[in-house]
Amino acid sequence: MNQLRCQKCSALIVSRKFSKCTTCGVNLSSSLVMTSEQAKKVAEIDQHTKNVHEASLKWHSQMPSQDLRRGGSH
Ligand SMILES: [Zn+2]
Repeated sequence: MNQLRCQKCSALIVSRKFSKCTTCGVNLSSSLVMTSEQAKKVAEIDQHTKNVHEASLKWHSQMPSQDLRRGGSH
């Protein structure tokens, strides 16, 4: 879990549900609630998931179903 801090008073932001800092009351910008780096990471993961999903769809349509069990160990 990522810990976020208030940009003004550096208080730990315990919940992203609050739009204001619980300590100093400053408005927490959306960029703080989710930093651009995090947003980028989320977008990358999202894209990756999409790619994997699309690849698996292709793979499924190409491979006989019995071969699916072989790669099933995580
Ligand atoms: Zn604060």
